[in-house]
Amino acid sequence: MRGMVHVYTGNGKGKTTAAIGLAIRSAGAGKSVYIGQFIKGMEYSELKIINRIQGITLVQYGRDCFIKGEPETEDIKAARDGLNEIGKILKNGKYDLVILDEANIATYYKLFSVNELIRVIEKRADNVEVVVTGRKADDKLIKYADLVTNMEEVKHYYHKGIKARKGIEN
Ligand code: ATP
Ligand code: MG
Repeated sequence: MRGMVHVYTGNGKGKTTAAIGLAIRSAGAGKSVYIGQFIKGMEYSELKIINRIQGITLVQYGRDCFIKGEPETEDIKAARDGLNEIGKILKNGKYDLVILDEANIATYYKLFSVNELIRVIEKRADNVEVVVTGRKADDKLIKYADLVTNMEEVKHYYHKGIKARKGIEN
């Protein structure tokens, strides 16, 4: 059976952590996992530990800075280079689980198009399971995916002014 395509989207907390949880489960099953983080360039705490886990590789393809404004040429280049590299990884089948963290944000800001993203995922080797995370998943990707989880925000302390905390959000 061909690997499935998951999408974790919505405004509630838990998209990236769910993907990381799945990565750990897969690695525990002896599978190899590749996590590409789009948009992100800062040192998220998972970066310090994930690459020490046997079977999981985490690479960042972002610069972290445009989110409050417009993406710059360099943001677009970083994302496109990332998609290109992930494309090769999906195709060669060396990793059984490939996570495209925040790729939905990349399509939302038009760093690459959703059609390009789907084209790359469609060319995956049969063994590869794919996870795409990030708010504002494009309808085309939702249609294409085999599993879509919408994290619903019931409450979030962000609205109380509590910003991202080390070890909890980053
Ligand atoms: P996690 O990584 O904890 O699983 P997530 O992947 O579901 O979360 P993201 O959308 O990737 O969530 O990012 C959440 C980040 O965005 C947090 O650092 C949070 O502080 C910030 N943020 C900005 N606006 C909001 C909002 N309206 N609700 C929640 N978080 C927000
Ligand atoms: Mg996230």
